[in-house]
Amino acid sequence: ALSTATVCLVIGMAGSGKSTFVQQFALHEEDAARESPYLVNLDPAVASDIPGVNLDIRDTVKYKEVMEKYKLGPNGAILTCLNLFCTKIDQVLNLVEARAKDQQVTQEELAPAYVVVDTPGQIEAFTWSASGTVITESFASSFPTVVLYVVDIPRCCENALTFSSNMLHACSIMYKMKLPMVIVFNKCDVQSASKPLGWMRDYEQFDTAISESSTYVASFARSMALVLHEFYKNIDTVELSAMTGDGFDELTEAIDRATTQYYDTYVPMLEASR
Ligand code: GDP
Repeated sequence: ALSTATVCLVIGMAGSGKSTFVQQFALHEEDAARESPYLVNLDPAVASDIPGVNLDIRDTVKYKEVMEKYKLGPNGAILTCLNLFCTKIDQVLNLVEARAKDQQVTQEELAPAYVVVDTPGQIEAFTWSASGTVITESFASSFPTVVLYVVDIPRCCENALTFSSNMLHACSIMYKMKLPMVIVFNKCDVQSASKPLGWMRDYEQFDTAISESSTYVASFARSMALVLHEFYKNIDTVELSAMTGDGFDELTEAIDRATTQYYDTYVPMLEASR
């Protein structure tokens, strides 16, 4: 048994269902008679309340005030909030550690198995910023850390080209962060993920689907597919519904496999770079 909770960085486009996913994750852990995940919100621009949130960037930095004070647009303000929050990352880690290291916190109280971190819907603000990198690396050097890349099935299955752009995006994030990743196909209550899963497994299926696009685009996507094929081999996928809760047992199994992968590949890499 692992003695530390796994940190799950939840990344996905706005509308992919991240917030719904985080809430459903907490319900699933309660159903499994485990401690609720420790919930961290890193999206400064969320307007509504987040039930059960333990640590919220909005308690430290006020998005609207940052926007007015520094005369920034929405993206600049999100980035500035992350930068301000980042200066307090030591305190953040101490808080999470106090709650999530050692399964047995006290005689009665168990520590959660997962720390779930919701990130801004403006993906780049987190994945390609200096402070996003500092936050990610801080978590990853203190806890087993994995990335959950949430994808909206109906949207990404509109056509094979949209799908491969989305996977290319996931791929670039994985190589940037160098952490184990699970692709979470969300909204399976609306549409099953069999189409994208088939495209990932079997190049022929993808090739047939991409032939419907214009010639130039199709040949580009075919070349990309060869690159992506390597990426698919290293990646776990789950199909679930954040709305109904279907597929969350498979999700925790995939996270546990990714955690093992963290210990097998990330830790040696971290030690070698010291
Ligand atoms: P976020 O912007 O990524 O945080 O996405 P939200 O959690 O706000 O979800 C965006 C929309 O998708 C909302 O209208 C949700 O109700 C809906 N949604 C999220 N997950 C699911 C799901 O599994 N099934 C269905 N049918 N709708 C979902």
